[in-house]
Amino acid sequence: MGRIATASSHTPVNLRADEVFRRLIDSVREYAILVVDPDGQIASWNFGAERLYGYKSEEVIGKPFNILYTEADLKAHKPAHELEIAARTGHFENEGWRVRKGGSRFSANVITTRLTDDAGNLIGFGEVTRDLTEHRQSELRYRLLVEGVMDYAIFSMDPTGHITSWNVGAERIKGYAADEIIGRHFSAFYTPEDRAKGLPEHVLETAKSRGHFEGEGWRVRKDGSRFWASVVVTALRDDEGGLYGFSKVTRDMTDRKRLLDELQRHAEELELRIAEREESNAELEAFAYSVSHDLRAPLRAVTGFTEALAEDYAGSFDKRGREYLNDITSAAARMSLLVQDLLEYGRVSRVSIPLETVSVLKAVEDAAKEVSKEARERLTLTIAPDLVVVAHGRVLTQIISNLLSNAFKFQAKDVVPDVRVFAASLDSVVRISIADNGIGIAPEHQERIWNIFERLHDRDAYAGTGIGLAIVKRAVTRLRGTYGVDSEVGKGSTFWLELPRAQQAETRNYA
Ligand code: ADP
Repeated sequence: MGRIATASSHTPVNLRADEVFRRLIDSVREYAILVVDPDGQIASWNFGAERLYGYKSEEVIGKPFNILYTEADLKAHKPAHELEIAARTGHFENEGWRVRKGGSRFSANVITTRLTDDAGNLIGFGEVTRDLTEHRQSELRYRLLVEGVMDYAIFSMDPTGHITSWNVGAERIKGYAADEIIGRHFSAFYTPEDRAKGLPEHVLETAKSRGHFEGEGWRVRKDGSRFWASVVVTALRDDEGGLYGFSKVTRDMTDRKRLLDELQRHAEELELRIAEREESNAELEAFAYSVSHDLRAPLRAVTGFTEALAEDYAGSFDKRGREYLNDITSAAARMSLLVQDLLEYGRVSRVSIPLETVSVLKAVEDAAKEVSKEARERLTLTIAPDLVVVAHGRVLTQIISNLLSNAFKFQAKDVVPDVRVFAASLDSVVRISIADNGIGIAPEHQERIWNIFERLHDRDAYAGTGIGLAIVKRAVTRLRGTYGVDSEVGKGSTFWLELPRAQQAETRNYA
């Protein structure tokens, strides 16, 4: 094994340690490890060297190590030069070509280390060689990949922001050829306003302190035109953490930005129109409210005089006259109901509804008082007395009262009404359900019945104004609750609403 093996093998113990060490070096596959005499002859040759260079150890031991170099390196006296530096400084590292048995080359990283004996005399050199072919290839592949990317501008900068590399994507997006821009500062891509604000410096500072910077904004092409860029700048650091530059990936998002702006404009326009509509709706509602309000007095007069007419002069009318009188009375009654419902609808839309803790049972019992005595006997309440919601007592009663009156009204002629009200706590809400055994509602109508004046039957079948459910909808929404109906034609309907559950002990107002 040349001089190394003989230099320190004095005792049997050492011999064994040397042997182990030699085997270790021998068994390394990934690195060629060889020892070169001070005069440049190969003195030992491990298994990795056999693999890498293709020579068996008996073929090379004793041969000059410069057989591993290219012609060009030999001409430049590299082998001797490298040994000379290693002898002088203790160490030499180099990347370059090495030659295999048969003449093929590979890219190698070689570390040459000076070996001395205990007295400091040079006894040779250790050489560790690593094959960089794969590394080089992946580097090349990476470079080709980056260079070929068209959709992204990918370039690198030195730590001060001067451009050091430039791909075709960058050329396409920004308009500069590589030789025009390499060496220039990347702030060239920023608008004068952004430059004045110090944005380029901020970008580098952020990348430096946080590892990367991400952002979107207007950037400037070579011809002065602007494009909307999505940018990622990454700080590049070596193994010791030293900053050696930045990479920057920029994407042209102008089309997307235009689309988004357009969408935004549409959304704003829509909002404006909705606001306008809401405003005109509110005006219409206010108008309807005041008209209904003003209709009350003449209506009272009509009703009053019709009653007086019926009481004092009914005898003077013939059958036809009495029929007309009846028609006037019932039309006036209908109108009075309509005015009353419209006023109610206006009120629930307009008045302020301060929220408070309301007992569900109390609200339902109050509503039940408004249905006829006969109906009340067909009503079952299943509600825990301590169940409380965040609502408004009078408004909740009004909601339930409307639903109860519908539940008793929309019944088939020959059916005995069975109406049940129950309430259950579900997480943070309480669901109050009003279930009837009435005529039911076909699925295709279940949505529109909530609209004002929407009715599924004519007046002769079931009296009504078509305002009740619109009041329920408006009132529940104003209580910040939700509502709905489950129904099947011929089987009955369950109208429900959900309101925020209140804490038992809570007595404060939610206004
Ligand atoms: P109104 O009761 O004055 O007709 P509503 O707004 O209260 O008006 O109800 C709208 C329509 O929804 C009713 O005309 C009816 O067709 C339907 N509806 C409401 N409640 C029920 C119910 N419990 N069962 C069946 N249909 C119902």
